[in-house]
Amino acid sequence: MRATRLDGIPPTIFSTMSALAVRTGSVNLGQGFPDRDGPAGVLDAARTAIADGHNQYPPGIGIPPLRAAIAAHQQRHYGIELDPDREVCVTTGCTEAVAAALLGLVDPGDEVVVLEPYYDSYVAMLQVAGAVRRPVTLRAPDFRLDADELRAAVTPRTRFVLLNSPHNPTGTVLTREELQAVADLAIEHDLVVITDEVYEHLVFDDHEHVPIATLPGMAERTLTLSSAGKSWSVTGWKVGWATGPAPLVESLLAAKQWLSFSSGTPFQHAVAHALDHEADFPLALAKDLQGRRDLLCAGLAEVGLAPRVPEGTYFALTDVGHLGWDDGLEFCETLPERAGVVAIPAQAFHDDLDAGRHLVRWAFCKEPDVIEDGLRRLREAALEK
Ligand code: GLN
Repeated sequence: MRATRLDGIPPTIFSTMSALAVRTGSVNLGQGFPDRDGPAGVLDAARTAIADGHNQYPPGIGIPPLRAAIAAHQQRHYGIELDPDREVCVTTGCTEAVAAALLGLVDPGDEVVVLEPYYDSYVAMLQVAGAVRRPVTLRAPDFRLDADELRAAVTPRTRFVLLNSPHNPTGTVLTREELQAVADLAIEHDLVVITDEVYEHLVFDDHEHVPIATLPGMAERTLTLSSAGKSWSVTGWKVGWATGPAPLVESLLAAKQWLSFSSGTPFQHAVAHALDHEADFPLALAKDLQGRRDLLCAGLAEVGLAPRVPEGTYFALTDVGHLGWDDGLEFCETLPERAGVVAIPAQAFHDDLDAGRHLVRWAFCKEPDVIEDGLRRLREAALEK
């Protein structure tokens, strides 16, 4: 038995593929989580918070030191000024922030423009909210945002853009020009932009993450979502946040209070410590991750799966059509058996199946020896169809 609001929504591909990795003893290059923990001082801060008795409900909006730390982070990195009491809300990971934003802001029938391939929770929560999604495809091989396709997706019923940059799963970091195209449309059509920026610090080479809230005229119409999980390698802590104009944050909180009510107290204290005292960790992580990106991309190229080199995030996308596979899902389903490796079929993230059928996502947020092991297995396997 299942409510119709979840019709057609499959189990999340991340749970399915991680369970497959465990079941088959495969190297998990699928779900994006690091296998090295974040900084020791941050882990200690969580233990200390528990020992110090920070174990009961915090305020739903989040503990004051964390909201202050989030506001200071936005100021320090991007020059964004926020009132921590009205323009910041702590959430249970960015996934809850997405859910609460959509449930708190979107009415049934509202059209929401969303980049595809998309993170799978967007589809589920848009459907639960009764929204109509208007996908705009980032297409292989470059995965850039096409301003004309974007414009064509907007209709008189459009009220929101759900943005994600740095973008999972393509690894695209939207340029200032691409973001300006979104901003122009948002201003012209009076749209609210909800932007998922969880990979904000994980950008490589000379690419730069530009929060769309910093473009002229956008601060007042942008709800920015992020989290600590990726930046401080604590994905299991599930501490995220939303920042933006008070009315948008209030609407998100109006929904969040009925989802989780509030988010884990000791982890909030520890993340406040991370933001205030381990501010450089994400930058060092990005440098290190860039080396692992290069390791994975070179190894994939060696087995005939040269990826588009990602500009940010944890992920690289390859086209398995080069090896004779016309279906990336079939490739991924049989990969554990053939090679002992798990990857994610990117078609799970598309409305436009033709654009995504051949694409497979590989995570490089793993330790170098894990990536090497995965690559060795791929080299030794029969990968061609
Ligand atoms: N964001 C992670 C990924 O894309 C997974 C998060 C999750 O499993 N919910 O792999």
